[in-house]
Amino acid sequence: MRSLLATASSLVAQQSNAERILSGRATPSHDYDLIHQRIEVGNFDWDATSFDGNVTTTLVSLRPGLDSIVLDMGRRLAVRSVTGARSAPLRFTRPGDTIVVRLAKPAGFRDTVRFTIDYQGRITHGRGLYFFKAEPGRPRHHQQVYSGGGTDGNPNWIPTYGAPHDKATWDLIARVPAALTVVSNGRLVSDRPDPPARGARAGRPPKPRTHTVRWSQERPASTYLISLVAAPLRKVTERWRDVPVDYYVYSEDGPKVRPLFGVTPDMMETFTRLTGVKYPWVKYSQTVVRDFIGGMENVGATTLVDWLPDARAYRDRPWYRQSLIPHELAHQWFGNYVTTENWSNYWLNEGLAEFMAGQYWGARHGRHAEDDFYLDEYRRFMAADSRRRVPLAAFNSNNVYTKGALVMQMLKKHLGPERFWAAINRYLTRHAFGNATSDDLRRAVLHVTGKNLDWFWDQWIYAAGYPELTVTPAYDSVSGTLALTVRQTQMDTARADSAGARFITPAVFQGPVTVRVGTAAGDVRKRVRLDRREQLIEISGLKAQPSMVVFDENNAMLKALTFEQPTRWLANQLSRDPDLWNRSWVIDQLAGRTGDSLAASALAQAARGSDYYLSRAQAVAALRGFPLAVALPTLEAAMRDTSATVREAAATTLGAVGGARAHAAALGAWKRDPSYAVRASALTAVALIDSVRSRPQVLAGLSTPSYRDVIQNAAIAAAARSPDSTLIDGLEKILGEQQLPSLALATLASRGDTQALTALVRHRDDSRPWVRRWVLEAIEEQLEKTP
Ligand SMILES: [Zn+2]
Repeated sequence: MRSLLATASSLVAQQSNAERILSGRATPSHDYDLIHQRIEVGNFDWDATSFDGNVTTTLVSLRPGLDSIVLDMGRRLAVRSVTGARSAPLRFTRPGDTIVVRLAKPAGFRDTVRFTIDYQGRITHGRGLYFFKAEPGRPRHHQQVYSGGGTDGNPNWIPTYGAPHDKATWDLIARVPAALTVVSNGRLVSDRPDPPARGARAGRPPKPRTHTVRWSQERPASTYLISLVAAPLRKVTERWRDVPVDYYVYSEDGPKVRPLFGVTPDMMETFTRLTGVKYPWVKYSQTVVRDFIGGMENVGATTLVDWLPDARAYRDRPWYRQSLIPHELAHQWFGNYVTTENWSNYWLNEGLAEFMAGQYWGARHGRHAEDDFYLDEYRRFMAADSRRRVPLAAFNSNNVYTKGALVMQMLKKHLGPERFWAAINRYLTRHAFGNATSDDLRRAVLHVTGKNLDWFWDQWIYAAGYPELTVTPAYDSVSGTLALTVRQTQMDTARADSAGARFITPAVFQGPVTVRVGTAAGDVRKRVRLDRREQLIEISGLKAQPSMVVFDENNAMLKALTFEQPTRWLANQLSRDPDLWNRSWVIDQLAGRTGDSLAASALAQAARGSDYYLSRAQAVAALRGFPLAVALPTLEAAMRDTSATVREAAATTLGAVGGARAHAAALGAWKRDPSYAVRASALTAVALIDSVRSRPQVLAGLSTPSYRDVIQNAAIAAAARSPDSTLIDGLEKILGEQQLPSLALATLASRGDTQALTALVRHRDDSRPWVRRWVLEAIEEQLEKTP
């Protein structure tokens, strides 16, 4: 699963079910082995959000005298009948979100049991299934129904065993209107038109023609990966080796398919090569749907949000291709082939999938691209950890993606790629089509390398936090020795939560780091093991005084680093250190030295000449506080950088710097830049520098289309900061395009803007139902905020 929460730049809060409380802290006990489910659904009703279901479950008893079976089944599913062998009715009860089926006679140990549950599902949209009607007049809003799946979704529409540790096979048979394509897991068995509905009564409109589609998942998988999508979709297909690779999109999105999804076969090849395990399913499909939470790795049949980038959006490296596609694909190994045994080890799914996405870009574009991916994870991990500190392997951990990826990258650096990938191969093959815990991964490393990494697992996976290191240097020129005092300052302040859980932050983190000392007479490296709260590292034999000290070359340890250094050392490191985390740390140090001309020139040099765009962009952003005479020429040069990320950082910094020259540079970018993100930042900058003179640009921005509406959103934000009557008219004109204009008008109205209020009131009765909905929601939201 990959939710948008972490990356959405929209001002509108994203509704998401990704933050639902997971159920299943520990592996639950049950007394059968789920073998197969035949799931038949039909009669979907988009007005009532209902459907009919018929599920035949085959399982094997795991105890003598098994007289009743408990399945997970949402309470809103109305059971019509439960029948056993020869259609004999069986008694059942419905405690909570379960069904208890009483068998006609007790089953013995290892006896096979089969029964059928016939039911009507009346669903709350978004709980189990998502129903969408077509909205005439609204582009791309097609009729569809799909399942959410994930950690607690499927029992809300089918009776099944919901926990991840009992794998089964299944058939999914869906009868839907003829215009809708059905996509599910496994192999497409058949797709047949149904005979016309009989007995159409006079006065009733004839029912639309339907077809029945049957898919078969023939290799065992966890039931949270069962998927159904029915939507008007067009299939674009290619192959990777002997595996069909299918993309299901709306017909109008045809031209966007290959630039986006065309990377998939190469990713399948790369993941196969790295793990030594061939893509394990009979096909791979990626299907786009409306208003999805991001992506869900349903086995062999990933579901994705329908935001296909257009050609221009690739200048801004869209998250969709960068993270979403490789992440969900990696789950086909990590999560689907080998699955966490319970949700407390969820990081084995999410952390490893997230890690693999970075590995793909590293394999394709080299070291900087790999560092780039994990630097982003690092930032998001630090932000999450500062809100709530939880271990990686913990129920409801907030860092399963970010810290999971970072810890795997550390492990890879620690073991080296050969041993690391051999351990991953052992983990995957040992638990193929099965389940694993965090300790199973440790044992795979032990088996392959002979190394007991208990210490690594204890501090990085079972304990919380990270080392906060303070390094103090002292150089003795007589003996040519550099002494570094390293103190670990992290505090264990956590108290037990309401459930009694308390997580330890270790007083001491252990691990190897390399110190690299640069001198005029060459570089000296020393590898040391950190293993004490305070320790002294001595690097002797230096033939000249240090001109650079890199603490933890290659960033082998996840950490926060405090290390006061002369600007000269930092400047040298910035030009010489290839590691992006290290460079980024150096840039942060230099950014605060705004009165230091050497810091300014080091940043300016990196902004213009660094060999990777991310370092250039960070250096550009760091110039914000420096004197204009230093910053402006570099920012103007950065506006001509080949990378949109650098130009975007420059435009944002121009907005912060202000003044006529900055305004002119930002205005030029707004008019001419080919990137959506750069134009959005430039528009924001222009409006921040001069809100009155920028009105024509903001007005134009309101009606400028862009991927994910980045330009329109920047214009809406500018209009809300500094409204006038033309801009309010402009907001009113685009009320039908997305919800943000309604929210902006409601905010303005709550501040006493009567024109905004009048506009909103006028649209409470808008002819477009979605506009009425948005306007009412926006008004309600403002009322809630007003005391
Ligand atoms: Zn995921």
